[in-house]
Amino acid sequence: MSRPRQQRQGFAIFPNPHSSLQEAREWTEQEKWKDGAICPCCAQPAKVYPWKLIFRTAVGLRDFYRLDRLTPGRYWHRADAMRVSTHPDLYQSGAVVMGHRWELLEEKSGTPESEAEEEDKFKDGFWRITQLGRDFVEDKVKMPKTLLLYNNKVVGRIDHPLVSFSDSLSVKFSRKQMMGRSDVLVNLALRTLQEKKP
Ligand SMILES: [Zn+2]
Repeated sequence: MSRPRQQRQGFAIFPNPHSSLQEAREWTEQEKWKDGAICPCCAQPAKVYPWKLIFRTAVGLRDFYRLDRLTPGRYWHRADAMRVSTHPDLYQSGAVVMGHRWELLEEKSGTPESEAEEEDKFKDGFWRITQLGRDFVEDKVKMPKTLLLYNNKVVGRIDHPLVSFSDSLSVKFSRKQMMGRSDVLVNLALRTLQEKKP
């Protein structure tokens, strides 16, 4: 049995049920940026969440970048990116295509509207790296490490710290290690892709 919404931990409950709708809305608008709130209008939990550019996301970007160098601008399935990856195991997670939240990756048929739709697209969608994504992977630009998400949409970014692509990968591997083997892997992947063609 699921827990009643009102007992969701840490979510604030509107203190004054006799207020106007306008006041209730303003209250939710403020509280969603703190610990979250139960919206008095629709009883839905409202909370802004931080979303970080993590190692997995950087690996995904690097893999789509490699594919993009073969045929610039082409969309690739995430299974193709997995094939050129040094970390195919990370492809169990949607985090490998989360670069789209920073506009570093783009999905073929537009941004998913709901969380369920987004889950599907992570499995089945086609993606390509954007010009901003290329610049990021080449360490020409930095990105905010943390975005703020509300209802699955980016509503803000925290500009400190900014991270480089190298920073994002350096948690586990140096850029040289990560990029160094790409030619070998890309050749392997190309061969596999060509074999798959009818
Ligand atoms: Zn509401």
